[in-house]
Formats: sequence, C-alpha cells, structure tokens
Amino acid sequence: NAASVETMKATSLTDTLLNIIPDNPINSLASGEMLQIIVFALIIGVILAKLGERAETVANFFSQFNDIMMEMTMMIMALAPIGVFCLISRTFANIGFSAFVPLAKYMIGVLIALAIQCFGVYQILLKIFTGLNPLKFIKKFFPVMAFAFSTATSNATIPLSIDTLTKKVGVSKKISSFTIPLGATINMDGTSIMQGVAVVFAAQAFGIHLSMTDYITVIGTATLASIGTAGVPSVGIDRILDMTRTAVNITGDAVCTTIVAHQNKALDKNVFYAEEN
Ligand code: ASP
Repeated sequence: NAASVETMKATSLTDTLLNIIPDNPINSLASGEMLQIIVFALIIGVILAKLGERAETVANFFSQFNDIMMEMTMMIMALAPIGVFCLISRTFANIGFSAFVPLAKYMIGVLIALAIQCFGVYQILLKIFTGLNPLKFIKKFFPVMAFAFSTATSNATIPLSIDTLTKKVGVSKKISSFTIPLGATINMDGTSIMQGVAVVFAAQAFGIHLSMTDYITVIGTATLASIGTAGVPSVGIDRILDMTRTAVNITGDAVCTTIVAHQNKALDKNVFYAEEN
C-alpha cells in the first residue's frame, strides 16, 4: 500500500523550549511562530501593565486593534457556513472513500479515543472543577468545534473560541486571550492521541511487541511531539483524522480555560445559564 502521509518533524524538548524565546520578534510575527509571538506579547503586556498611564496610548492601540480583528473575524464568520460546505466537499472529493477503507481499524481506534477524551474526560473535568453542565457546554461550544473540524487548524479557530467563551460561557477575556492562543499552540490532546495510536498500530502491523515501558515512552513522546506540532492543517488521507483531532484539541483548550477562569473568579455563570436569545 503506497499511501504516503506527510508528517511534521518532531522537535526535541530542548529545541521546543529554546524556540519559544524570539531572536527577532518581527520575524516571528512575519513567519507565524505562535509560541514566540505569545512570549513577546506577554512581555509587552506585563510592561504595559507596569507602565500604566505612561503607556496608555499604546495599550489603547492594542485594545482597539483587537476590536478591529474581532470585527473582521465576525464578518468572515458570516460567510463560514458556505466556506465550510466547500471545504468538506473538496476534501471528500479529493480523498475518495476507497483511500481510507484499508486503514479503517486504525481510524476507528483513533476516533473512539478522541470521542472518549472530548465527551468523557473533558466533561468530567469541567463538571468536577467548575460545576457547569457539560451538555450545555457542548451545545454552546459546538459551533467552534464544527469550525475547527472543517478548517483543521487550531490557530484559525482562536478568535471564534475566545469570542464564544466570552459571550456564551462567561469566561473573562483576561483569561481566554492568554490561554486559548497558548493552548492552540502547545496543548494538542487530539494530536497526541492520534500519534500514540499510530505508533501502536504500526507496531502491530510489523508484529513488534510493546512492553509497558514502551507504552509509557510512547505516551511521553507523543505528548512532546504534539507540543511541537503546528496548529495548521495537515495533508493527504490524514485529513479526516486531522479534522477530528483539531476539534478535540481546541475543546481541551476551552475546557481548561473555563476551569482556570473559574479558579480565578473570572467566570460569570449567569452568562452560561442565560437563555439564548
Ligand atoms: N491540525 C491540528 C491542529 O491544528 C494539528 C495536527 O495536525 O494534529 O490542531
């Protein structure tokens, strides 16, 4: 079977850590190095807060520019349903059903694990740590999951995720504007699940027996590799799983954000339980 899948190169832990310090912030912005941008933005933010009135103009500029970007996102979102329809049609037309029949077992394994993570683990954590109703949460957050599913990129989902958490879940932007971009960059549970299952699948395919220690190594490596994976769409047959794991990736970020907001008294439950108009 000559199906070829392009994968991202795994980065070592040292490189991952060193990579987050920008040598040249302008270059990071131009090349979309998310972690470096976040670190730089964080430093600027801390300094702005420290300078207070002395840097008011710049702080206002950033805040107003943020409003502009949000408005732009909302305008694009108005067109999203049509775009999503086209993206999905194109994906299925290109890949074709026959391409993924031989890999069905692997795909089903990944999909089951992703479903357990998304609808089991996350929702239990949400319930335990915030007391919010998981079903209501999923219902409110579903459009964001659908957006991540169809675009297969965590990064592109950031604005919609922040907006939904603010308006429908009641999470303060103070929390989400930091945790969501950070999560979209390094927290990819769906990606590490897929990588873990892929290793086990490959081992079985080649008849290699994995010991308990091997499994633990796989878990550790997959977690690190997922941190190093970019929040952008992948290519080839993997696309179907990519769509699903991206939806899981961003749901994990959102649940974690809601928990952090709750612990920092930045979660307005009235918003969460308010009837939608
Ligand atoms: N597409 C995924 C994401 O943006 C990353 C991956 O390929 O696993 O979250």
